[in-house]
Order: sequence, then structure tokens, then C-alpha cells
Amino acid sequence: PVADPVLVVNNIEVIYNHVILVLKGVSLKVAEGGIVALLGANGAGKTTTLKAISNLLRAERGEVTKGSIVFRGNEVQNLSPNDLVKRGCIQVMEGRHCFGHLSVEENLLTGAYTRRDGSAAVRRDLELVYDYFPRLRERRRSQAGYTSGGEQQMTAIGRALMSRPTMILLDEPSMGLAPQLVEEIFEIVQQLNSREGVSFLLAEQNTNIALKYATYGYILESGRIVLDGEAHALRENEDVKEFYLGVG
Ligand code: ATP
Repeated sequence: PVADPVLVVNNIEVIYNHVILVLKGVSLKVAEGGIVALLGANGAGKTTTLKAISNLLRAERGEVTKGSIVFRGNEVQNLSPNDLVKRGCIQVMEGRHCFGHLSVEENLLTGAYTRRDGSAAVRRDLELVYDYFPRLRERRRSQAGYTSGGEQQMTAIGRALMSRPTMILLDEPSMGLAPQLVEEIFEIVQQLNSREGVSFLLAEQNTNIALKYATYGYILESGRIVLDGEAHALRENEDVKEFYLGVG
């Protein structure tokens, strides 16, 4: 039997400022253990979709006006972002959002704030993060604001890991990073997926890299899913090649 999906987004609509309809009925699923790519151009609605799931729209005067979002069998639209984190789903925001004046390690420790299992367990997970990101171990005493873009992205993912998530919503991890670093980060995403069992929904404009690592993909255009499929099938799709992979 096929396991139930971890995340089911069912026909959601999102409106900003009561008038601007940005998501026009988006549906998607993330299977247990999946790495799902949400693809599309700048402004298609990828960030809005992730924020709708993690309930971060209110601060931007956005709201889900239709549809449902089910995480591990429970509807989650009315949960606070914190409660969703406690249930195992956390978002890593676009642009990384480290606390620039804190050290790398202090940033990582802020990720454990929802936990109640004591400092020994938190220390163990800090070591786990450092095992996945050896650069962060080297830079642990550095002020995060002075580390490189790649290191800040690693810190943001590491901080999310400190909440012991079963699912990470990862917004545009490749943004502003050199190709080699992007590969490095996606390699770690794949390891976290296969060894720690973390499922991922990742928003990416970089279709090439996302479809190299994802198991499944959705393409969003102007607030609608226009195409979805197994990552290998999308890589071979002529429209995807022409419009998103830059090989006509
Ligand atoms: P990006 O790559 O820039 O993150 P995206 O695909 O994630 O693009 P969104 O950021 O979700 O797209 O934006 C989708 C649409 O919603 C855009 O037209 C954007 O202008 C609009 N939008 C986003 N945030 C707001 C807001 N707070 N108020 C009004 N409109 C917004």
C-alpha cells in the first residue's frame, strides 16, 4: 500500500489586501520522503504557496480564502506558524533571514526554541547539523552577518533542522549563490532526505538544479499549476525544455 501523503494542498486561493487574487486554485501533494519542486518564474506564486502552508501570510495582509491544507492527516490552516513547527513542518524563508548580529551557533540554537526535550538532545542535534554542514562547525563563532551567502543559507537550513522537522518548506535555496555552492546545498538536501527522512517542498526558479534532485515537480504560472509530473518526465518534456530549461 502507498503511504498517505505528508502534505496535501487542495485547491487553495490566496488574496492579498482583500483584492489581489494571487493563487487561483493551487493543488499539490508531497509524498512521505519526497523532494517536491515547485517551479515557476518570478512572481508566479511560489513564495505565496509556501507561506500559505506555513501560515505566514497574515503579516503580509494575505489570506487563504478557499481550499484546504492537510499536514499528516490534519487540517492546519488555523494553526499558528509555531504550532505547525511543533508538528514537524517548518519553512526556510527566501533570502535566508539569519540574525546577523548573532553567531552562527546562536542562530542554530534559536531554531530549537519550540522544543521541550532539554539541552542534551539539543546539543546532539547541533552536532548533527555540524556533521551535515562542516563549514558551519568551522564558522560557529563567527557573526552570521559576516559569513558568506552560502554559509548563511546553510545556517538557515541548519536552524530549521534544530526544530527536528519531518518536512521543510525551502524557498529558493539557490538564490544568489554560485553554481558549485548550489550543488553542495542540494546534495545536503538529498542526504537529509535519504538519511534523516525529511520531506521537502522547495520553491525554485532554477528548474535545472531542482529537477536534478527532486522526485516530483509542479510548474506554477500566474497562480495556477499548469503542469506536474515525475522529475525525470518533466526534464524530458518539450515545453519544460523550451520555457524553463533553456534548451529549445
Ligand atoms: P519570487 O520568485 O519573487 O519569490 P514567487 O513565484 O514566489 O516569486 P510570489 O512572491 O508568491 O511569487 O508573488 C506572487 C504574486 O503576488 C506577485 O504578483 C506579487 O507581486 C504578489 N504579491 C506578493 N506578496 C504580496 C503582498 N504582500 N501584497 C500584494 N501582492 C503581493
